[in-house]
Amino acid sequence: MSEKYIVDHKLLKTLAAAAAVKIQADDFNTGAHLKVFAVPRGGVPAALAIGNELNRKIRLVDDVAHADIIIDDLVDSGATMARYDKPFYVLVDKREPEWAGKWIVWPWEAGSDGDVEDNVRRLLQFVGEDPNRGGLLETPARVAKAWLEWCAGYAQDPADILKVFEDGADGYDEMIVVRDIPFYSKCEHHMADIFGTATIAYIPNPDAPRIVGLSKLSRLLDVYARRLQVQERLTAQVADSLMEHLKPKGAGVVIKARHMCMESRGINKQGSSTVTSALRGVFKTEPDTRAEFMSLTRD
Ligand SMILES: [Zn+2]
Repeated sequence: MSEKYIVDHKLLKTLAAAAAVKIQADDFNTGAHLKVFAVPRGGVPAALAIGNELNRKIRLVDDVAHADIIIDDLVDSGATMARYDKPFYVLVDKREPEWAGKWIVWPWEAGSDGDVEDNVRRLLQFVGEDPNRGGLLETPARVAKAWLEWCAGYAQDPADILKVFEDGADGYDEMIVVRDIPFYSKCEHHMADIFGTATIAYIPNPDAPRIVGLSKLSRLLDVYARRLQVQERLTAQVADSLMEHLKPKGAGVVIKARHMCMESRGINKQGSSTVTSALRGVFKTEPDTRAEFMSLTRD
């Protein structure tokens, strides 16, 4: 999760004053009022805050065509800004290094969890539901909690899981395999379910064997699965993490998964699995090792 940055009223005033200075420097000569289109929703409080610091009066307009300038609370990627061809002002530009990667919480956003729940309520309305219907009253809070679990991997470090034990592993250089480990993930394109199984293997380096308990392999898989993913990256991350932390002779990962964004919508490819593999070290360079591992991944 990105770092949460709480903006208080004092900082808000400073940011608004800085934006006001820029607007004044651009010197819009537009009669009694400066006409402002405020981008929904955060642009409205941002425009009011900036208006307080300006040396002239502003008027909010509903139609962007009648505006002299546009105000939003922040610029993320610049995509929103690119939709407007008028002077655009914000309180915070996240493309600037000091704001990059920060999750900004404005004074008008009561609390971050509340925001997420508001967004779920809006999603319920968007799909045609009534968020005030009895059965849905607790849904936004449940959804927020569930997503924290589904994405718990962001807060976990594979290095903590791959704590090594070396006792009794001297000279061991056989393939260690755990087959068909179930996992649940979400695709980063639709936030829809990806689920399936993974087969994970590695061969310790006999000169410096680093071995982990077998359950650690499924926990490692979970660290990466409990994030927004594409299957290829998930497969590669598990293999690369084993290589980095166990320094084995090689590692192999094969993932077989179903993607609900493909099966339940769009092209409706029902019941089909996608198979991806990542082979590292001797799993890639030694045909025998590769063949042994691949035979273990077949049904
Ligand atoms: Zn998808």
